[in-house]
Amino acid sequence: MGDNNKQSSISGENLIVTGGRVLTPQGFIEHGAVVIKDGILAYVGGAEAMPAGLVTADTPVIDATGCVVAPGLLDVHLHGGAGCDVMDATVDALRTITHAHGRHGTTGMLAATITAAQEHLEEAAAVIRQVMPLSRQPDWNGAQLLGLHMEGPYFSVNKRGAQNPAYIRHPDQAEVERIISIIGSGLKHMTIAPELPGAIEMIRWLKQQGIRVSIGHTEADYEVTMAAIAAGADHATHTFNAMPALHHREPGTVAAVLGDDSVTAEVIADGIHLHPGAMNLIYKTKGACLTCLVTDAMAAMDMPDGHYHLGELPVQVIDGAARLENGSLAGSTLTLDRAVKNMVELVGVPLEEAIRMATYVPARQLNMLEQKGTLAVGKDGDLCIFGADLLCRHTVIAGRRLVK
Ligand SMILES: [Zn+2]
Repeated sequence: MGDNNKQSSISGENLIVTGGRVLTPQGFIEHGAVVIKDGILAYVGGAEAMPAGLVTADTPVIDATGCVVAPGLLDVHLHGGAGCDVMDATVDALRTITHAHGRHGTTGMLAATITAAQEHLEEAAAVIRQVMPLSRQPDWNGAQLLGLHMEGPYFSVNKRGAQNPAYIRHPDQAEVERIISIIGSGLKHMTIAPELPGAIEMIRWLKQQGIRVSIGHTEADYEVTMAAIAAGADHATHTFNAMPALHHREPGTVAAVLGDDSVTAEVIADGIHLHPGAMNLIYKTKGACLTCLVTDAMAAMDMPDGHYHLGELPVQVIDGAARLENGSLAGSTLTLDRAVKNMVELVGVPLEEAIRMATYVPARQLNMLEQKGTLAVGKDGDLCIFGADLLCRHTVIAGRRLVK
């Protein structure tokens, strides 16, 4: 991870951003400035106090007057965008997806696979491995690809959502070992249903490998979920979605996830997957530091309504809601800047806390807080600059402005 990051600093550029409200870990700096040198944050503070001579006189400047200058957004759960799917398993598909999400302020992401045949997962892993270093090169006009999130295939058939039941199976360590032999430490995150035979043992083993384990697509009751947490699972995949409903005598997965402070809860904040009241319940129980905004976006993100695929399954998108023929939600068309906006406008979360859920929290879940997640000198020069409408106006990755 550290070595990968050095590559970004070598290929990074210089940039000055001035005039906006700059969000730091200590709060907003009104009329702030950010200076990026060789792709790394060299100054974060008031515009008046900006030291001269950090960068050369011909360094490009972004005037962020009226904007909010935030750390680059990070998405640990997305499947596609702009017509392409991670399961296409091509460099071009990942180029398109990282660009589409980059346009909306995402500067780093995991590519999420879905439940599929082992050979297909291996193909996808091989391409992700190939693209990870490419996405740190100066000519990559998109979010950095930080690794793989395996969403499945070890899931509950009854809580499959849009996962293809033909490929859902019981945990098999040999399969995961083959993926690791292809992608190495690029396997960052795995979603698993803890009630399956062998799942608790697999959670313990994944944790030992340094892979973050997330609970999802599950029918686990409260006790089994707590056992999964004790075994090392500390993340919940799209909380409430593809989990048993919260019931006062059968509290189930949701109560365990919301009630345990070691678990970070994903939220798909599109206003479709969750009622704003459910979004608020997650926020009130977990707080901003344990709530992780994700898009779970599929190929129809940044595209018109119509017919698409999620993996092999046909999906119809109507009014931005992606569904299988049986009505199951099939990923989203959400962008991460809009997720932040929705938390502010639908739930009433303070802006700085909504941003934290898409920056600091995913950076921590990626074990990348030393490089990403907040604006502090020495971290990567990645920015999402929000306009007054709380949507992304400019994206900066390693000091380079993304060309939309
Ligand atoms: Zn899912």
